[in-house]
Amino acid sequence: MGDLLAELIDISKSFPGVKALDHVNFDLKPGEVHALVGENGSGKSTLMKILSGVYTKDEGKIIVNGQEVEFQNPRAAQDMGICIIHQELNLCRHLSIAENIYLGREPYQGLFVNQRKQIEDTRKILKRLDVDLDPTTRVSELTVSKQQMVEIGKAISTNAKIIIMDEPTSALTIKEIDELFKIIHVLKQEGHGIIYISHRLDELASIADRVTVIRDGQHIITMDYKDTTQEKIIRYMVGRELKEK
Ligand code: ADP
Ligand code: MG
Repeated sequence: MGDLLAELIDISKSFPGVKALDHVNFDLKPGEVHALVGENGSGKSTLMKILSGVYTKDEGKIIVNGQEVEFQNPRAAQDMGICIIHQELNLCRHLSIAENIYLGREPYQGLFVNQRKQIEDTRKILKRLDVDLDPTTRVSELTVSKQQMVEIGKAISTNAKIIIMDEPTSALTIKEIDELFKIIHVLKQEGHGIIYISHRLDELASIADRVTVIRDGQHIITMDYKDTTQEKIIRYMVGRELKEK
C-alpha cells in the first residue's frame, strides 16, 4: 500500500455518552478527491479531527506515508503534511492575507521572515491558485469564499500534501463554489490528496473520485464515484435497504 498518502484503520472514538466512531476505515491517494459523506452527527468531523491531530483516537491506527503515527496536537499533524480547513474559518480578521498565511510560523533561521518576502511569497501562492487578490488586503474585507482561498493558501504554504475540507461550501454562492472547485482541480493536478466532507451530494459529481459513506459512527461503504449514483449514496447514508436494479 505504498501509494497511499494516509490510511485510517479501525478508528474508534467515544465522547461521554456517545460512540462517535466505531472501527472506521478510510484512506487517501495522491491526486484524488475522496468525499466523506454522512448525515449530521454521523462522525465525519470527528474522523477528520483525528487525522489532523485535533482529537486523539481511542483505538485504531493512523498511517501517513507508510509510517504509523500518533498525533498529540494539530501541529504534529501539520508537520506530517496534513492540514484541515474547518467549517468555522480560523483567520485573524484584522490582519492582512499575507500576515494570516505566515501567522504562527517559526522564525526562519533565527530571523523573522521580512514583510516584503511574506508579501511576495503570498503573491506566488495566490497566483498558483489563480486567485486574484492583493496580499496586503485585510481579511475582514474579503467574502467568505475568498477567506477560504486564504485558508487554502495557508495550507499550501505549509507544504501540506493532505488537505481536508470540512463542509467548505456551506456558506458559498454558486459562483464561489465554482471558484473553489477550480482550485481543487489545481491541487489535484499538483498531486495533493483532498478529503472533502459534505452532505450536499449534488456537488460531488464535479469533483469526487471516491466516496465513503459513514452512518452512526460506522463505515458503510467506499466506492469509486463513477460506479455509484446520488440515489444510492443517499440510501447508504440513511440506511434503507438497497434494491439493486
Ligand atoms: P458530523 O461531522 O458527521 O456531523 P461529528 O463528528 O461532529 O459529526 O459528531 C459525531 C458525534 O459525536 C455526534 O453525536 C456529536 O454530538 C458527537 N461529538 C462530536 N464532537 C464532540 C465533542 N467534542 N464532545 C462531545 N460529543 C461530541
Ligand atoms: Mg461536521
